[in-house]
Amino acid sequence: MDIIKFNVGDILTMKKNHPCGADTLKVLRTGSDIRVQCTLCGRDMTIPREKLEKNIKAVNNEKA
Ligand SMILES: [Zn+2]
Repeated sequence: MDIIKFNVGDILTMKKNHPCGADTLKVLRTGSDIRVQCTLCGRDMTIPREKLEKNIKAVNNEKA
């Protein structure tokens, strides 16, 4: 399996939807735990990297 790379500001498309219905999360902080914010409801959460990576479908780099 490829290593998934993402950075602060990237939008992650997830395999599993957030309870609010959105399937995209914005990366707020990286590290061993990743802080992400739901792009629809705005809720932020901290998820262990290993758990988050298993759930990523696509990484969308928003930087120009
Ligand atoms: Zn949400």
